[in-house]
Amino acid sequence: MTRKDRTEGIYSRREVLDESERRQYYLIQLKELLQYAYRYSEDVKKRFDRAQFQVEKFRTLTDLKHIPILKKKELIFLQSMGPRLGGLLTKDLGELKRVFLSPGPIFDPEDRGEDYWGWTEGFYAAGFRSGDLAQVTFNYHLTPAGLMFEEPLRNLGCATIPAGPGNTATQLDIMAKLRVTGYIGTPSYLMHLAQKAEETGINLRKDLYMEVAFVTGEKFSEKMRNTLEKKFDCIMRQGYGTADVGCIGYECYHKNGLHVANRAFVEICHPDTGIPLKDGEVGEIVVTAFNKTYPLIRLATGDLSYIDRLPCACGRTSPRLGNIVGRVDTTARIKGMFVYPHQVEQVMARYEEVKRWQIEVTNPGGIDEMTLYIEASNFKRDEELLHSFREKIKLRPVLKVLAPGSLPPQMRPIEDKRKWD
Ligand SMILES: [Zn+2]
Repeated sequence: MTRKDRTEGIYSRREVLDESERRQYYLIQLKELLQYAYRYSEDVKKRFDRAQFQVEKFRTLTDLKHIPILKKKELIFLQSMGPRLGGLLTKDLGELKRVFLSPGPIFDPEDRGEDYWGWTEGFYAAGFRSGDLAQVTFNYHLTPAGLMFEEPLRNLGCATIPAGPGNTATQLDIMAKLRVTGYIGTPSYLMHLAQKAEETGINLRKDLYMEVAFVTGEKFSEKMRNTLEKKFDCIMRQGYGTADVGCIGYECYHKNGLHVANRAFVEICHPDTGIPLKDGEVGEIVVTAFNKTYPLIRLATGDLSYIDRLPCACGRTSPRLGNIVGRVDTTARIKGMFVYPHQVEQVMARYEEVKRWQIEVTNPGGIDEMTLYIEASNFKRDEELLHSFREKIKLRPVLKVLAPGSLPPQMRPIEDKRKWD
């Protein structure tokens, strides 16, 4: 079977604007967004007024820094402040297409417009082409990922298999029988599929037909990419985004960092002050997607990265984010899910015999593993605790019960010991 060319081309002319066109484009988009949001979002109006930020005085891109940043964690509180998700939305909930719920808990609205989550250009850059049959292994209910990634595939003329997570044997069976060409999911799940396949005697290159994989939701190392690309003989590219805003960046064929999506303006800021940093300096990713329905202006994602503006061989002119180098706070993204210490605390509060706890994250063989250490004497409610943990956090840790006084006196609630190379 001849393979498609997945290495060249662009999806939209916006990806190749020259420098002054790009500045002009950002300026127009931001001006429109700020005016609209100030007029129709109660929360934006309140925030701008409090900061004495006048929309009509927004003239250059650097003026954006006068708007205080919005921390992702604030959304939990703000959304509970009244109708229209606490005034963050510019229309009523019933006028939308869907509303999801992500851990936090944070509601994620989806409007009815074309390419709402904005991943289409990113999927094209990753190498998806018309006629692909793609298996989507993200969750399809409550959280947005599964349905979010259906959208770009439909726009590019691909068919999907809404597989969702789990059922590894069935997933492999589908991939072989239907000659699936594309994978969408976390890198660790693709690694898991590869391992299971090899254990059961499936030859990844001969029995499967994978040509392109789009991964997100986890840190992704070059070592893991090389291993999986070789195993499957496929192109594997990653995207970066959040359940609040959708696509923020994506890799092209040349693996030069994450091209910032043309639907958003991205700044790298000092995590405490919100002041934009220079190109190359590491800081928090602050994103303003041009979304008039849910205008999260200057949303601080909590992820750390830096900006690179050197030209890329693919011809796209958007600035690029370097690797995601870490998280601003103790919040850890494990198997694609944000795990917040305060959520763990809420679970532990139900077990008075648990004196102290700590989560340790490791990634032996590139797969995230979470161990929950608890200090308790004579603890007998292991299964019950694991059940309530899973209900709240959506992940199942390995539980290790320690004698009281075993954990260090000074410790982080989540100790991230994952290695990336
Ligand atoms: Zn590129």
